[in-house]
Amino acid sequence: MRLDFCSLSSGSSGNCYYLGNDFHGILIDAGISATAIRKFLKGMDISMQTIMGVLITHNHSDHIKGLEVLTRKNSLPAFTTPKVWESILTPHSKISRDCIREIPMQQKFHLAGFDIEAFPVFHDAPETIGFHICAGDKKITIVTDLGHICDTAAPYIKAANLLVMESNYDEQMLMNGSYPHFLKARIRSDNGHLGNHQTAEFLAENITDNHKYICLAHLSKNNNTPEIVLQTLQRTFSEKGIVPGNQQEIIVLDRYIPSRMISLI
Ligand SMILES: [Zn+2]
Ligand SMILES: [Zn+2]
Repeated sequence: MRLDFCSLSSGSSGNCYYLGNDFHGILIDAGISATAIRKFLKGMDISMQTIMGVLITHNHSDHIKGLEVLTRKNSLPAFTTPKVWESILTPHSKISRDCIREIPMQQKFHLAGFDIEAFPVFHDAPETIGFHICAGDKKITIVTDLGHICDTAAPYIKAANLLVMESNYDEQMLMNGSYPHFLKARIRSDNGHLGNHQTAEFLAENITDNHKYICLAHLSKNNNTPEIVLQTLQRTFSEKGIVPGNQQEIIVLDRYIPSRMISLI
C-alpha cells in the first residue's frame, strides 16, 4: 500500500496536512479555511469525496480554524480524544455534534485503510496529541506542537519512515525579538514549542536509515526562517558527525504554500 503525504499549510498561521493511500485520504488538523483546503486538494487532483475524516491535535486556532465549516459542508467526521473535544466544544463553538468521533489515547483505531494511534505531547493546551499512522509497513509520525520530547513521544518519532516534526523558533531570533518576556518564556518552556536546536539535537541523536523523509514543520513567522532551520540542523549534524544517507530527504514545510506530494511506496 502506498502512503502519500502533503502539507497544505504549516506554521502558527494555520496547519493542515493530507495523508492518502491507494483509495482514500484523511486530513490532520484544519487550521486554514475550508475553502483553502478544498482549493489546495483540487490543485493536487484530490477530490473531497475521497477524504474520510479529519484528525485534530489540539484546540489552538491554528489547528481548528476551518474545522466547523469543513465538517459541516462536507459531512466529514472529526477525530480526537475526549479531552481535546472538551476543550474545543466551548459554549461558543458552532461545531455540529454530528461530526464528533472520540478516539482513545495510545490505542490503535482504523480509518480509511490507516491504523492510527494518538499519543500525548506536552504543549500549552488542555491536551495535545501527536499521531502515529501506519499503512501496511509504512509509518508516519506527526508532532507539530510540543515543548519537549518526552519518553512517551520519543518512540513514535524514532519509528517513523516519514516524520513531520516541529522546528518552531531560532533561539537568538526569539530572545532578541520584540515578544514580551512572558511570551518568550512560554514558547521556550517545556509546554511551549520546540526550538530548532532541540529538534536538531534530537534528530542528530536518533536519526536512522528508516527515516526516509523528515519534514520540519510549524515554523514561527517572526522567530525563524527555513534557511536558519537547515543551517542549525546541518551544524548540529556535523558537530556530531552525522551524515544523512543518500536515500534520506530533509524538507522544510512552507507556512502558506503546499509541499509537493511525498510518496512512500
Ligand atoms: Zn500550532
Ligand atoms: Zn498549539
